[in-house]
Amino acid sequence: MLPAEANWQAAADAIADAQTVLVASHVSPDGDAIGSLLGIAGALRGLSKIVTAAIDEGVPDELAFLPNSQTILPKVTRGEFDLMIALDASDIERIGSVGKYGLAHSRRVINLDHHPTNTRFGDILLVMPEAVAAAEVVFDLLQYAGWQLSRDVAFNLLAGLVTDTQGFRIPATSSRCLEIAQALMEAGAPLSEIMARTLNRRSFAEVTLWQNALQSVQLQDGLISAAITQSDLEQASLHKMTDGGLVNYLVDVDAAKVAVVFKELPTAVEISFRAKPGYDVGRLALALGGGGHVLAAGCTLAGSLQQAQELVLALTRKTIDAGEGG
Ligand code: AMP
Ligand code: MN
Ligand code: MN
Repeated sequence: MLPAEANWQAAADAIADAQTVLVASHVSPDGDAIGSLLGIAGALRGLSKIVTAAIDEGVPDELAFLPNSQTILPKVTRGEFDLMIALDASDIERIGSVGKYGLAHSRRVINLDHHPTNTRFGDILLVMPEAVAAAEVVFDLLQYAGWQLSRDVAFNLLAGLVTDTQGFRIPATSSRCLEIAQALMEAGAPLSEIMARTLNRRSFAEVTLWQNALQSVQLQDGLISAAITQSDLEQASLHKMTDGGLVNYLVDVDAAKVAVVFKELPTAVEISFRAKPGYDVGRLALALGGGGHVLAAGCTLAGSLQQAQELVLALTRKTIDAGEGG
């Protein structure tokens, strides 16, 4: 995993030179994916750029309250762009079809991210692993370039900070991040509304899902895991589950060192990892073709739930042993 690499001047110059800009973020978007994307899109529109914002399949219903979320397209199939800005995505596959189209139809690409597993794709890097959210990197760019911070931009950026830090609770929460949150609130971002509409809510369908999923929980020597099957999802009438609520809940168990949640898809399995400080699941997810942070990471594996569980649980055990100097 490489150190920070951020070429602020090149990014500001590329934006100044561009008229048409495609802004993109990762598939299965979370609050930081949407918040950082809407934040930079708003700032660019403030500079009179022609902005196309897109994420495969669009905005999840629970994030539709974010200002200007209706401007995000579910796909992009036309147009040529002076610049593409990819946000919160550690590799180009993570941006889905929008990313593929954008790479082929943009003159230049800015890779703006905060994942230590970032593959450094693109022409201009703004990759800051010490930032708690891509939204923090967007804020830094705005400050560097001296662009205006509107209320809507501040609202979206604060949503990115709040969701990626779980309400300023994760170990990576820095004093700098709190200073930025303060500046965003001063620009009009409503902290308590964002908290209420992201972290402090859930649908009843999610409770139904947990009712089933919690029955699969196992804890052995610090490794806690659970599986969500297709039938659990069907019974709860849920097609997607976009937040890491269950895996975050499990890693909080006193005896847990690493938590793993498997989610069965029709022909693949999505896996979420969380670790207590001292264990590195980012490296594990990267080795499995995914990515993330030291304490929160994920990957998707082709094949059955059982195959994924056998492989991943054995490797997770090694990650725990490595954390213990074994
Ligand atoms: P999640 O468990 O889905 O909340 O994801 C935790 C972290 O891992 C986030 O920083 C994600 O960006 C990252 N992540 C999850 N799935 C993948 C994947 N398939 N490829 C790369 N990074 C991922
Ligand atoms: Mn994200
Ligand atoms: Mn993020």
